Amino acid sequence: MKIINPATGVTIKTLRDDSDISLMEKFKLLRVGQRQWIKIPLPERVKIIGKFNELLEKNIEKLAAVLTSETGKPLQQSRNEINGARARVQWMVDNAEKYLADEWVTNTDTLKEKITYEPLGVICNISAWNYPYLVGVNVFIPALLAGNGVLYKPSEYAILTALQIETLLVRAGVDPNAFKVGIGGKYAGEALLNIPFDGYFFTGSYKTGQFIYEKVAKKMVPCQMELGGKDPLYVTDDITDIAAVAAGTADGAFYNNGQSCCAVERIYVHEKVYDEYVTEFVKAVRSWKLGLPTDEGVYFGALTRPEQLEVLEGQVKDALIRGATLLLGGKRIEHDGNFFEPTVLTHVHNKMKVMQEESFGPIIGIMKVQSDEDAIHLMNETEYGLTASVYSNSQARAEEILSQVNSGTGYWNCCDRVTAGLPWAGRKHSGFGATLSHQGMRAFTKTKSWQMKP
Ligand code: NAD
Repeated sequence: MKIINPATGVTIKTLRDDSDISLMEKFKLLRVGQRQWIKIPLPERVKIIGKFNELLEKNIEKLAAVLTSETGKPLQQSRNEINGARARVQWMVDNAEKYLADEWVTNTDTLKEKITYEPLGVICNISAWNYPYLVGVNVFIPALLAGNGVLYKPSEYAILTALQIETLLVRAGVDPNAFKVGIGGKYAGEALLNIPFDGYFFTGSYKTGQFIYEKVAKKMVPCQMELGGKDPLYVTDDITDIAAVAAGTADGAFYNNGQSCCAVERIYVHEKVYDEYVTEFVKAVRSWKLGLPTDEGVYFGALTRPEQLEVLEGQVKDALIRGATLLLGGKRIEHDGNFFEPTVLTHVHNKMKVMQEESFGPIIGIMKVQSDEDAIHLMNETEYGLTASVYSNSQARAEEILSQVNSGTGYWNCCDRVTAGLPWAGRKHSGFGATLSHQGMRAFTKTKSWQMKP
């Protein structure tokens, strides 16, 4: 397997893929390792994960450089991602004992009832490349804290980062047989589905998620899906600082080159503020620098996957054929590596691919709407249900609108953000189950109900 720098096209490393046999060997070692790992009391496991967090901080420059080299993410955004992951891990460290401790329900002389949270066993985590630290720690940290063994199969576009994570976890004190990285792409992913793991936790596209869910169903083990989105954002007519809203929402659409599961993917703007919003939006996007992700000050780096260039070109073509106006960008940049111009389309409608298919790139469609009712209808017109956002001066108005949108997260005057204390959960084709929050801490456990008569 060749690891290619997406900004230069240069091969930075060659690795050997795992085979069915080597994955099974890793699984067997994990079975043994998990039995040792669970013997370490929870407070000790918490300390070990806390040490891992310190190591992330200590090594941030080296880790960010590796992340940038394999994903094309601007260096500063790599540092931001690692710092974001550190904040999440800290929340988990601070809350693990609270959410994983035994819970007494009844404790009398005649009846004792309690709930205990036991680890699932050895779980499989097949993951995505776009935020390997963030989506990674959402799963393997609470899984380890709960006493599970973890086979972490990162995306083929984030393997070097995964290997760094493995080294730091072991250095912090995690049993080397309690966490292992599976190396490979689709083939390795499919091989993992034939191994008797005690749970499957997937982050990736709807198409792959559906395939995995069908295969895993027969095993009757927990299976959780964090999938894609086509997240809508609505700008109402009562906003006052249009320039600030335009810049903030443009960042929500274009940060990490639009390669975020919760990136703003469709924008609806009330007709009263539409013209000024669009002008300010384009101004903001133009002000951001595109270039090599290793150059400081760059906002738009390279796209991670070369295939996405074609998807984006297809969306632009489809939109233009159906009557859209291209205000900015629209094509790939002829340069080594995967670069696409930041692209803004107006006069779009919901039948266009750019308003229905996950773009996962630096492209946005902005549509004028007449009323809140229109906006609610259009926002709901999607197969996905990850997040939705409303910008308004009125919290009541925003909450009323968001309560009618079928998504796992609602944002008022913000977008494209995830916070450790809240469940991260999709609906419809965006998946099911939750990571983060108390739900995400307990997702890697099975409850035992104790009914005891003294
Ligand atoms: P992907 O579905 O192509 O791949 C995800 C993982 O699945 C990779 O590790 C890949 O090697 C593996 N895989 C591919 N085919 C497989 C198969 N047949 N069997 C088993 N495993 C297989 O997704 P991606 O391109 O890595 O990630 C981008 C997608 O992830 C986007 O749709 C994005 O929205 C989504 N995502 C969702 C969240 C969330 O929290 N909801 C977070 C990040 C990314």
